[in-house]
Amino acid sequence: MAVHPPRAEAVVDLDALRHNVTLLAGRAAASGAATMAVVKADGYGHGAVQVARAALQAGATWLGSCSLAEALVLRDAGITAPILSWLEAADRDYAPGIAAGVDLTASSVRELGAILDAGHPRVHLKIDTGLSRNGCPADEWPDLVETAAKAQADGRAEVVAIWSHLACADEPGHPSVDAQARRFQQAYDIATDAGLDPKRHLANSAGTLNRPDLHFDLVRVGIAMYGLNPLPGKEDLRPVLTFRSSVALTKRIARGESVSYGQIWTAPRDTTVALVPVGYADGVPRLLSGRMDVWLAGRRRPVVGRVCMDQIVVDCGDDDVPVGAEVVLFGAGDRGAPTATEWADTIGTIDYEIVTGMYRPRVTRTYRGAR
Ligand SMILES: *Cc1c(COP(=O)(O)O)cnc(C)c1O
Repeated sequence: MAVHPPRAEAVVDLDALRHNVTLLAGRAAASGAATMAVVKADGYGHGAVQVARAALQAGATWLGSCSLAEALVLRDAGITAPILSWLEAADRDYAPGIAAGVDLTASSVRELGAILDAGHPRVHLKIDTGLSRNGCPADEWPDLVETAAKAQADGRAEVVAIWSHLACADEPGHPSVDAQARRFQQAYDIATDAGLDPKRHLANSAGTLNRPDLHFDLVRVGIAMYGLNPLPGKEDLRPVLTFRSSVALTKRIARGESVSYGQIWTAPRDTTVALVPVGYADGVPRLLSGRMDVWLAGRRRPVVGRVCMDQIVVDCGDDDVPVGAEVVLFGAGDRGAPTATEWADTIGTIDYEIVTGMYRPRVTRTYRGAR
């Protein structure tokens, strides 16, 4: 048992995660859809196995991972729920995935061929409806569908679903969403004409929250499950991750003394500063230098000077801040502490990148609410 607080700690609140999954799975169920919990990138930095278990407890029935390697981590942990994986380097050996009962994605005839060569797969065919990224272009789709239908008729594969991904679901009313939905319908018609009877899935978190007409058989939720709302407006979502540390050292510095590299901040008065032993190597973006607060001893306080690799300095004025006091860098925001979304907005990125960036060996992960 550690008797000292971790230097840098990511606290994952699985009760909050289950709350979010219950909300999202409820929305999906209202339109007859099942819910896939997307746990790629080690569960957006929260820990894929723990997130997967909690999501399944709360009503998700599918799991989604980017790579087959990520899917196999879930299987190795004893998780038996259906898992879809969707992106590999060319010519991967799919046999371990098929043996482990992982559903695979084919975006081209070539990819489907490699999958069929590896065994008797459960396969989802991905149509590109407008992202121009992963997914089969419309002109190659009839070929892909014919090849898959033939493999299924020959008993060499099970075609589970066709699917696609939305580009702008987080911008309500964006015309691309309807355009993608129309292309998705055309792809489905071609698949059924070829004799397939696939399930359909299209919606990410934003689509799940604001386009119930696009839920189809299954929704794939990521960011909203982690409690971060991809849409403008309010939803009853609870941020799952809290990033915290503690005060390692305090000192008085005189008016006119500067703090940290480059001396970009100089004390305008005598003040107490608190040293917090986390930095950009722990996921605090250096771009937040001079632009962030932490929650410390009952209130928000500014971080002054540059964010360093291993440390930041907090201006505490004349307050008596004890060494060892908890410092919340970001969290649920309910007590007034900063959030991952606030960090993202400050430096011009998205909260997805902030929380996923917490996947680092130097940050200790702890779980609350594990069952
Ligand atoms: C990441 C991902 C999702 C989840 O997206 P969110 O916006 O986090 O809900 C869904 N589908 C695919 C294919 C993805 O890559």
